Amino acid sequence: MALDIRTFGDPVLKTRAAPVESFDESLLRLTEDMLATMRDNEGVGLAANQVGRLKRVLVAAVEDDEYVIVNPVLTYSAETTETAPEGCLSIPGIQVDVERPTAVTVSGQDVSGEPLLIEASDLLARILQHEIDHLDGVLILDRTDRQSRKAAMREWREHLLAQQS
Ligand code: ZN
Repeated sequence: MALDIRTFGDPVLKTRAAPVESFDESLLRLTEDMLATMRDNEGVGLAANQVGRLKRVLVAAVEDDEYVIVNPVLTYSAETTETAPEGCLSIPGIQVDVERPTAVTVSGQDVSGEPLLIEASDLLARILQHEIDHLDGVLILDRTDRQSRKAAMREWREHLLAQQS
């Protein structure tokens, strides 16, 4: 079942999510709902904060592969970085440039609690860093420069006004 996505201004997006301790039926349902929500919105990633749940769970999709990572931890980040425009389902219509390492290793657990390790580069590396940021209450607006942030905030206010009218 697809869930409602929380948008910029909702305090849940600025809050750090708590580690998952029980790998139960409700966790399984949450991950299935998050995958459905990501697919419905044609997103490439989603963190639990974005559906109003403060649990350290993320989902991601690159080409035909889907990923579910519980309690993800960045264990390695490449020194090489790349700046590229990023969007966010919680800030629809807005893109800002974000500089990130081009490759990362993420450890965590799968939905049944088994350990997993993902070595990611390029797009997947960027998505995983973006979603782990969400779990720490960090948004792309916190990762861009002052000028881009101001421009994005102006666009966002226009987006909200357009929705109201
Ligand atoms: Zn996002």
